Amino acid sequence: MPFFICTACGTQYADGAAPPAQCVICEEERQYVPPRGQTWTTLGPLAQSHVNSYRQYEPGILGIGTQPAFAIGQRALLLRTPGGNVLWDCISLIDDATVTLIKSLGGIQAIAISHPHFYTTMVEWARAFVCPIHLHAADRDWVQRPDAAIKHWDGETLKLWDGVTLVRCGGHFPGGTVLHWAGGANGKGVVCAGDILTVATDRKWLSFMRSYPNFIPLSAREVEAIGQALKPFAFDTIYGHYFDRVIGKDGKQVLEKSVARYVAAVEGKRGY
Ligand SMILES: [Zn+2]
Ligand SMILES: [Zn+2]
Repeated sequence: MPFFICTACGTQYADGAAPPAQCVICEEERQYVPPRGQTWTTLGPLAQSHVNSYRQYEPGILGIGTQPAFAIGQRALLLRTPGGNVLWDCISLIDDATVTLIKSLGGIQAIAISHPHFYTTMVEWARAFVCPIHLHAADRDWVQRPDAAIKHWDGETLKLWDGVTLVRCGGHFPGGTVLHWAGGANGKGVVCAGDILTVATDRKWLSFMRSYPNFIPLSAREVEAIGQALKPFAFDTIYGHYFDRVIGKDGKQVLEKSVARYVAAVEGKRGY
């Protein structure tokens, strides 16, 4: 039985003889159904038409993304930390080459995902590498393919192991999560942000939205809460959700000034 994948958002659905009537992720205001209408694929055909590509950002951090771009087009990160390897965020295409390469690097000990738009084929990844998937419980209703590998966590932080912490920021989704690795950036710390903090096109600022495709902003209160959630953590580099969206240094200051600019803008204040 095939597991159908939405071609607009990359979400894989639980077993069914026919594709779902609609994609509930894409029908919701934070995503969209393309003008061509709803279409579906499965992993087999996707692996024929697409391949994964890789970029090493720093020792211990590899980007993995699909070419040509598929669905939302995000790239995942493989973090090779002393306590184990983490797959941060997920992409739909998992093929033989990807499994072979990652196994040769020690496999994956944990998967963690920022929010439901990137849940994609997480269950396929968890089965290939025999590891748990850590998702924030506030977004549990968005899981379209339930599985025993999925571990929902509650509260504000979850320490995976020494130096690797999931931080609930909320915003884009109530359970919107980022990952902090204290040992990244030569010990200065990194934040893997998905699009919970979005690295802006100039790669000098961050912004924050409820819906990126439909331009729905967050409130000042929600964005201030994102800043507060990361206050206890030291970090220099911020990895966004596309290959080229990285803030290479001074990430902590960039977050602080970006929260201040956002709040001033939505409160109608000028001069930021
Ligand atoms: Zn979809
Ligand atoms: Zn999203």
